[in-house]
Amino acid sequence: MKLQFIGSGDAFGSGGRFNTCFYVDRSGGNFLIDCGASSMVAMRQQGIAPNSIETIFISHLHGDHFGGLPFFILDAQFYSKRREPLTLVGPPGFEQRLMEAMEVFFTGSSTAARKFDTVIHEIAPDQTLEINGVAVMAVEVNHACGAPPLGLRLDVDGKILAYSGDSEWTDALITLGRDADLFIVEALTYERKISQHLDYASVLENEDRIGAKRIILTHFGPDMLARLGDAGHEVAEDGKVVEV
Ligand SMILES: [Zn+2]
Repeated sequence: MKLQFIGSGDAFGSGGRFNTCFYVDRSGGNFLIDCGASSMVAMRQQGIAPNSIETIFISHLHGDHFGGLPFFILDAQFYSKRREPLTLVGPPGFEQRLMEAMEVFFTGSSTAARKFDTVIHEIAPDQTLEINGVAVMAVEVNHACGAPPLGLRLDVDGKILAYSGDSEWTDALITLGRDADLFIVEALTYERKISQHLDYASVLENEDRIGAKRIILTHFGPDMLARLGDAGHEVAEDGKVVEV
């Protein structure tokens, strides 16, 4: 499979980067991991057709991770003229928060008739669901957002793709990333500890315990952006494509 970093920034567009969104291109059906508030703009800029996406997995309910969904759904209705079902997967409480977000941004849109089915699944911590040919396991991490924050571990055609979501260091990240073919990990700061978020030093400290085959850092704040060149791991960039 190919994975494209549509957005590798933090919540506030630091460094001009887009909010979190990863596009996975595979023969069995393409999907997104997260769809932050700026993701439609980023997708248009990178030439990703929204109708090529079958499933969207959401790690947690903050705007820079799921805030693009109201726009995605309305685009599907009005511009992309979607006819195929759209499957959305998120943490407990996801459906209600999504409906609320749609009503805030586009009143009436949560109940408007659509020409495609919207299939919503909620996945609880420690649960594994089989969704459109992808087995996704949810691991609860440490990041307050009004619903359980998740890291996601996906089995995609026999390869393990893990994503930390946003999280302060927790040993749950070891469970999440263990032996993964690719572990995408937040690094908001270089070494400064911040409540609710991960610093690169914690990743380095625990790298051996995680044992992932490949780590790519993402979700950079200003402090990390200033020191990206010092990082001993691969770093995400908007538009970057990697083969997994
Ligand atoms: Zn975030």
